[in-house]
Amino acid sequence: MKYYSTNGKAPIADLHKAVVKGLAEDRGLYMPERINKLPQEFFDNIEKMSFQEIAYTVASAFFGEDVDPDALHDIVYDTLAFDCPVVNVKDNIYTLELFHGPTLAFKDVGARFMARLLQYFIKQESGHKQVNVLVATSGDTGSAVANGFLGVEGIHVYVLYPKGKVSPIQECQFTTLGKNITAIEVDGVFDDCQALVKNAFMDAELNEHMKLTSANSINVARFLPQAFYYFNAYARMKENAKIEKCNNVNNLVMCVPSGNFGNICAALFGHEMGLPIKRFIAANNANDIFYKYLQTGKYEPKPSKQTLANAMDVGDPSNFARIYDLYDKSHEKISALISGATYSDEQIRETMRECYKASGYILDPHGACGYQALADGLQAGEVGVFCETAHPAKFKEKVDEILGIDVEIPERLAAFMRGEKQSVAMSKDFADFKDYLMHQ
Ligand SMILES: *Cc1c(COP(=O)(O)O)cnc(C)c1O
Repeated sequence: MKYYSTNGKAPIADLHKAVVKGLAEDRGLYMPERINKLPQEFFDNIEKMSFQEIAYTVASAFFGEDVDPDALHDIVYDTLAFDCPVVNVKDNIYTLELFHGPTLAFKDVGARFMARLLQYFIKQESGHKQVNVLVATSGDTGSAVANGFLGVEGIHVYVLYPKGKVSPIQECQFTTLGKNITAIEVDGVFDDCQALVKNAFMDAELNEHMKLTSANSINVARFLPQAFYYFNAYARMKENAKIEKCNNVNNLVMCVPSGNFGNICAALFGHEMGLPIKRFIAANNANDIFYKYLQTGKYEPKPSKQTLANAMDVGDPSNFARIYDLYDKSHEKISALISGATYSDEQIRETMRECYKASGYILDPHGACGYQALADGLQAGEVGVFCETAHPAKFKEKVDEILGIDVEIPERLAAFMRGEKQSVAMSKDFADFKDYLMHQ
C-alpha cells in the first residue's frame, strides 16, 4: 500500500516510511492510497467473530500487503490483550468502553499497535540506529504511548506535556516510568507542545543528529488501528439486537468525543470499508472549531481553551486534514455524514449528574460529551453508541467532586500513583528544545 500526503507536495511513501516518519515532508498527514472494502459476507457473520478475529481482518485490509501475515497476527493479538465491550447505559444509548487497557483510555489500542509495528520495521533495518519518538500530549496520549513503548528495545520516547494542565493521575502515568521514557514538562499549552514536535521534525540539523518519529494520532500506525473497535461495536450491537430483539442496528449512530479527531477519523475509515453506521456525531467540549466548521463551512483554528474534558482541548485538530481529504474537501459530504455538538463545562457536569442519577453509570467528562450528544441528537428509530474514551478514575478529583462519590481506582492505575515523578523542565521556545535534544 502506498501513502500520500494530505498536502500533496511530498513523495509517495510506503508503510514502513509512513510509520517511521509520522509526518510527511510537506507537513501533511499520510493517507492510504486505497481503502479496501470488506466483503458483505464478513459483515453478515461478524457477530460470530471475536474482537481479535475482527481486528485481524480489518488490519489485513490496511497492512496485509506490507507486513508478514504471522507477524501482523501477533501484533494484533498482542495489542488487543483486553476487551472493548459495549454496555447499555440508558434506553437506546449504549457505550463502547475503551478504557480496559493498561492506561485506561482508548489510546492504548493505537499506541500498543504502533509500538509493535515500529519495532517490526526497525528490526528489518540494517544498523539498527536508535529511533526517538516525540509525542505531544494533552493528557492521555502521553501515558498510552509511554506505556505502549516502555521497554521496547531500540526506541526512546520523549513525552511533551503542558505544565499544570494535565491531571495528577494522568501525569504519573508517563512521568514515573523511567527506562526508555523521558517526560518533558513544557511551560505552555498543548498547542505549544504540538508545535515543538512539528518544528523538531522540520529541523534538518536535528534530524541529522538523531532519528526522529512521531507517535501522535497523526501517525498512520496509531490512528488506523482505532478502526478495530468500531467494527467490534457493530458486531456486539448485532449480537445485542438478536438477544433483545429491540434495537434497530441498521440505524446505528456512532458518537465520538473528539479533540484531535484521530479517533473519529478511524471510525470514518471503517465506514469507507463498508461498516454499516448510518451517521456520526463528533462531540466537542467548548473547543468548537469542528462544530463551527459544520455550521459555516469555514475552518478557523483558535488557541485551545482549558476545559473539564482536557484531553479534548485542541484548537486546531490535526486530523481535520484527513477528514477533509477523505471527502474531497466537500463541506456538503462531510456535514451530510457527520453532525456536531459542543458542551460547556457546566453542561458536562450536569450530564454526569443526570446520567448517574438515571442509570448509575459513571461517565468521565469526555464520555459525558458523547452521551449528551446522543441524548440530544438521536432520532426516532435510531440506536446510539458513544465512546467512553477513558475510565472515570483517571479524572477522579473532578468526578468525585461532581458526583459526590468516591470513584474506585483500578489496581493498574493505583500502581502508577505509587511511582516517583521524574521530568525535564522546558520553555515553549523551540531553540531550547532543540538545544536539549542536540545534547542527547
Ligand atoms: C485523546 C482523547 C480524546 C480525543 O480523541 P481524538 O482522537 O484526539 O479526537 C477524547 N477523550 C479522551 C479521554 C482522550 O484521551
